[in-house]
Amino acid sequence: MPDISSISVGLQSIKTALDITKELRSINSSLKDAEVKLKLAELIEALSEAKIQLSEAREENQELKETIKALEKELNKENEVVFKESFYYLKDSIEGKAGGPFCAKCYSDEHKLILVTELPKQFQDFGRYKCPKCGDIGG
Ligand SMILES: [Zn+2]
Repeated sequence: MPDISSISVGLQSIKTALDITKELRSINSSLKDAEVKLKLAELIEALSEAKIQLSEAREENQELKETIKALEKELNKENEVVFKESFYYLKDSIEGKAGGPFCAKCYSDEHKLILVTELPKQFQDFGRYKCPKCGDIGG
């Protein structure tokens, strides 16, 4: 599960690094070299931490993009239909879902896949199926 904590930590490290550079700039020249060196070491550490955290954030971002792409593909697949003998059918069957026939009128008018129901034999004079939504008979 990706989270945004690495971005927060990375940004915090950058803030720390900036604070250290301000301190360095204000250090009195009479201070010992050792103190400057210590501050520089802290600065490098903070920047390294920021780099690691932001790299992790970039990886997480990449993973999220791939997940979104896969989900979008899955969603589009759901609407891939083929027209066959007055009705639409799903191009690829989806587990647990009826693959058709779907009402052609509802699909062209509202882009909705409405499963048509088969009429009893004695009512099939004008068609075999009836759409429960628009009442269209066909097939
Ligand atoms: Zn319909």
